[in-house]
Amino acid sequence: MKKIAILGSTGSIGTQTLEVVRANQDLKVLALAAGHNIRKLEEQIREFHPVLAAVWQEADAKKLRAAVADLDVKIVSGMEGLIEMAVLPEAEILVTAIVGMIGIRPTIEAIKAGKDIALANKETLVTAGHIIMPLAKRHQVRILPVDSEHSAIFQSLNGERPERIEKILLTASGGPFRGKKREELADIRVEDALKHPNWSMGRKITIDSATLVNKGLEVMEVKWLFGVELDRIQVVVQPQSVIHSMVEYADGAVIAQLGTPDMKLPIQYALYYPDRRFLAGDRLDFAKLGSITFEEPDMETFLGLKYALEASRAGGSMPTVFNAANERAVAKFLEQKIGFLDIYDVIAYCMQNHKVIADPSVEEILETEQAVYEMIESRW
Ligand code: NDP
Repeated sequence: MKKIAILGSTGSIGTQTLEVVRANQDLKVLALAAGHNIRKLEEQIREFHPVLAAVWQEADAKKLRAAVADLDVKIVSGMEGLIEMAVLPEAEILVTAIVGMIGIRPTIEAIKAGKDIALANKETLVTAGHIIMPLAKRHQVRILPVDSEHSAIFQSLNGERPERIEKILLTASGGPFRGKKREELADIRVEDALKHPNWSMGRKITIDSATLVNKGLEVMEVKWLFGVELDRIQVVVQPQSVIHSMVEYADGAVIAQLGTPDMKLPIQYALYYPDRRFLAGDRLDFAKLGSITFEEPDMETFLGLKYALEASRAGGSMPTVFNAANERAVAKFLEQKIGFLDIYDVIAYCMQNHKVIADPSVEEILETEQAVYEMIESRW
């Protein structure tokens, strides 16, 4: 029995992780954490019987305690609660499926407690990769990527020597507006941006895919996860989302992982690594597929990738600024307070007005996040 804890169990990755648990007999959920969706969390508690569950606000925790009073489960709240669930002694692996920088502290504490991390939360490595990766090494824990691209790279590296990597080829679908030019993006509606051509994901990451910010965040994660310099990471648009990413080696060989777009594959791979288990679902039918095509990303129209590379090159606290500015801008776009292209303007403005802190601590990262939020509120 492999014992797991899921941070962000009510979201897109969290619920798919529970689908993987449901389909396998040898995974046991010991702890769950969610933000505000206590109805869904109650259903999950009733089905999976964790010993601990965390919610963000104490008021929600009180309601949940009353709702599950018939069960033997401890309900906790706040950052303390998230940390308590992250370090639960019996759990072997923490799935970080929470959205936002709020995931950093519980992840750090889980690493210190010796848990392997099945990492979905992008913000962790983007903003604190310089803290997380050395910490994981020191505590000899594995950071197992859940994101499909990073899992594909991880799978393509299996058994190979990292020093023989020539290039990482990070694939991108190009999002729902691929091929459009800037003028055509001005009046994009929220509903249109939420229609991803291939993947079904949470709202924020779906918008990030449309702006190419998501690909930018992924480049930064690749850098930290696999210790590869930026100029060895190439983004390749592959609109069918069949090739999930590739690695080119010193001898010119390119190894890739292909599959249908289903997040349960990388989630399950992270949970069972290095084993592979049966996973129900569609298989690739190459004859039906016909062709797989490739393009260069349009970085002049979709500035998300361009700004991400600039932020990563500037280093220190700049990726935090990029990430926080984007997070707030996307929230404002989803609330229809700003337009699609304004997302780029918000990011550019915040990056231009930030003085980089080299090698920031977790406190400095979180302070930078707050400063960015204040900068945005005073202007938009
Ligand atoms: P969702 O928005 O669908 O889910 C987010 C989860 O985080 C929910 O369970 C939410 O709980 C929880 N949460 C939010 N705030 C808090 C809080 N303060 N305390 C505790 N829990 C909280 O996001 P996704 O599943 O799409 O993405 C999660 C992370 O994984 C992101 O960083 C994303 O970039 C990354 N990722 C996602 C992929 C995908 O396919 N969706 C692919 C690769 C990476 P509640 O609903 O109760 O508020």
